[in-house]
Amino acid sequence: MTPPDLKPSRSTVSVDADATSDEAGPTKQNLRGPDPVDLERYVEDFAKLAPLEESAVDDYEKVCNLDVWKPTPYEEQFLPGLRLAGLSGREHVTLQNTADLHMHTEYSDGDTIDRVLTAAEEAHLDVIAITDHDEIEGAHVARRLVHERRLKVAVIPAIEVSSSEGHIGGLFVMKKIPANLSAQETVDRIHAAGGLAVAHHPFAPPFIERMLGLRLGCGELVQTVNFDAIEGTNAVPGYGRRFNIEAHEALKRRRVRIGITGSSDAHDARLIGKGRTYFAGNSGVTSLFSGLQHGFVEGAEGYWSFGEKFAYRIGLLRAIAANFLIRRGSVN
Ligand SMILES: [Zn+2]
Ligand SMILES: [Zn+2]
Repeated sequence: MTPPDLKPSRSTVSVDADATSDEAGPTKQNLRGPDPVDLERYVEDFAKLAPLEESAVDDYEKVCNLDVWKPTPYEEQFLPGLRLAGLSGREHVTLQNTADLHMHTEYSDGDTIDRVLTAAEEAHLDVIAITDHDEIEGAHVARRLVHERRLKVAVIPAIEVSSSEGHIGGLFVMKKIPANLSAQETVDRIHAAGGLAVAHHPFAPPFIERMLGLRLGCGELVQTVNFDAIEGTNAVPGYGRRFNIEAHEALKRRRVRIGITGSSDAHDARLIGKGRTYFAGNSGVTSLFSGLQHGFVEGAEGYWSFGEKFAYRIGLLRAIAANFLIRRGSVN
């Protein structure tokens, strides 16, 4: 029998060593805690990425007018490198990439770009998608600012398209996708533009749709339209859970593996990060793209304090009232 490896694995679960002190041999070895991760190595690797910071704006200029999205080296390598270097000094770490893939800015009915970017950094998100209603300019402005200011978050150019059958997220698109087309045609246009299509809040509560006079979710169309992912968590405290569960149930019936995203759908920057999409990989936005494309992403909801829940519901009522009175409020 091969003797046990005396170097504990990094993935070994750490337990109370005293509780096992009478045990010997392989069992004891397996129960030892992990060694500190060699963070110096990451810091050295990160130093090699410094030129990417210098060239960030030039790199952005090369891709900002393309018809099809392409990541900059800054988004693909520098940002993950920065995150790893930021771990320096901690002994036990878990690497996890997180994104918030649905939010609004002042270019539709959301918060200012500055507040959105600040909130995204404070929430320690690696990636955000700015998905204004039928508008893409704000996403481009934010992506440029990330490169100019060397911010620690990547921005995906994206849009929330008002299809005639419900809201559809177009991620990684460079230009507007027309509104009021059918769901299938909208998804086809997003794919033709090189992007990925997400069914946003597919089972939005019917009473909100009635109040707004809008079709918000594609509902059972998620069974037949070839979306790349379904928003399984549209971060709404309380009542929202039911329609998120319906989205998961619809996915089960579909019996095809596609990605599940989690998003805040924040119209107020303070709520950014309340819904999150987790993805693996070391290539920043490129890892997210392939994760979404092949169904290797998961959505989850963040923590809501009582104050935040209260503020959310006040905002929801205000948006519904504004929509009712002047047709300018939006909740999704
Ligand atoms: Zn929406
Ligand atoms: Zn939205």
